[in-house]
Amino acid sequence: MKIAETILDLIGNTPLVKLHKVTDGINATVLVKLEYLNPGGSAKDRIAVRIIDAAERDGLLLPGGTIVEPTSGNTGVGLALVAQQRGYRCIFVLPDKVGEDKRNVLTAYGAEIVVTPTSVAPDHPDSYYSVSDRLAREIPGAFKPNQYANPNGPLSHYETTGPEIWRDTDGTVTHFVAGVGTGGTITGTGRYLREVSGDTVRIIGADPEGSVYSGGTGRPYLVEGVGEDFWPAAYDPTVVHEVIAVSDADSFAMTRRLALEEGILVGGSSGMAVVAALRAAKSLTADDVVVVLLPDGGRGYLGKIFNDGWMRSYGFSNAPAGHTVGNLLT
Ligand code: PMP
Repeated sequence: MKIAETILDLIGNTPLVKLHKVTDGINATVLVKLEYLNPGGSAKDRIAVRIIDAAERDGLLLPGGTIVEPTSGNTGVGLALVAQQRGYRCIFVLPDKVGEDKRNVLTAYGAEIVVTPTSVAPDHPDSYYSVSDRLAREIPGAFKPNQYANPNGPLSHYETTGPEIWRDTDGTVTHFVAGVGTGGTITGTGRYLREVSGDTVRIIGADPEGSVYSGGTGRPYLVEGVGEDFWPAAYDPTVVHEVIAVSDADSFAMTRRLALEEGILVGGSSGMAVVAALRAAKSLTADDVVVVLLPDGGRGYLGKIFNDGWMRSYGFSNAPAGHTVGNLLT
């Protein structure tokens, strides 16, 4: 019999699959790691279970306690899933740019949500950071995981995502590409892959144009879950060799291509990471193996990236993506 005891036992061990069409003209092997196959639908399940385990161990989260966190949605789903299994109350604070589908997933698991404006500075009292701090202070027994600074975030990727990639490529991986949000994924996975390979694996970050990781000022962009307007502690820039900035237009065009040409329905930050990977792979050889982490699935973006009207309203092309390949690879 092959039976998981609980849904939490199914977190991690996501598969790698090779890209064939969008890699036209590229000699390197490009593999994507499908994090949407985690039970909560994203890579964030990994950090949620580790952060809650550690908080219970350290006495920060007691039976009947409340989890309060600012989250773009996926961390909330992971935390809500673990909280449901362990009997905690969850309150999530979201910026208003997060789509309704993502919000409804959180409430489906029994979590409560508070929506705050996207266009205010992080230190503004209405920002999602400030509101979550206030709730965590005011609610008795509240625990704030603080995914931006909690070392268990990067550690979960150091202990699971990195070893899985090394194991599943038989140690042949030469490049790792991931979008940077809190920075936990690239920091933990990148650190493990550099250590285990004798520091030969090259670690490449993908960042929305305008975000601080690629030298921006924090000006707004539409791709969700990645980019920042400050430098979180979960991100260790010394792990990362290079950060490639990608426009919303290129990220969304590639996101559509992945569904249309590869049968892989993922979110906008996945498209962004693939654009960065293909740019890096242009100069690589057939001996190179590039692994790109795709953080979540596309179902949460059907009303946005996969909706022609929404795309047009922001001036993004709806042309079949094959028409834009020249632009994507510049
Ligand atoms: N993509 C999506 C959709 C996300 O929700 C996140 C998490 N914020 C990321 C990418 C980036 O992951 P990390 O926070 O580990 O840098």
